[in-house]
Amino acid sequence: MDVCPDCGNHQISPRPFDGLVAFECDLCGAMAGDPRAIHGVQMTQKARELGIDPHLWPLMHVLGGLPGLHVLDARRVEAARFSLPCVQWHLVDAKGFAQVENLTKSLMLSRGQLQLPWRIELSYERSMVFTLLPCPQGPLSDHTIVQVEHDLDILALSITRDSRLSWWVRPKN
Ligand SMILES: [Zn+2]
Repeated sequence: MDVCPDCGNHQISPRPFDGLVAFECDLCGAMAGDPRAIHGVQMTQKARELGIDPHLWPLMHVLGGLPGLHVLDARRVEAARFSLPCVQWHLVDAKGFAQVENLTKSLMLSRGQLQLPWRIELSYERSMVFTLLPCPQGPLSDHTIVQVEHDLDILALSITRDSRLSWWVRPKN
């Protein structure tokens, strides 16, 4: 991209994302280039604005868009000298129960693509609180964090995809 399609400005900056490149106009902020890179760059920028870990934001975003769920927090759980991310939510209404069931099914269907086991835990803090968290086996290492970050991307993509499928949108019961 040499000229911004929106404003005609010639100052364009490349924004690499995950091996792909998007281009951002320095003047008006319009983006062009690979659609996946544009989406990734925009998600990362949004996460920074909100002060949220960019690795966690896509998953928080998709969970927050499901009816009946309210995302409470995404944080890192301290384990040994590592901190593992988790996302927490509670149910706004009865629709949320179907969403949790679908999320559990989606998690099961994505097992083959995930590098770590993940589970949804239920606890009670004034209301029911659900926590999605990785459960690495054995000692933690820097590689575990790489695996977690890989899985966060996969989870965001697979939940986005599954939440549009008929079994999710129109459950039988
Ligand atoms: Zn522009």
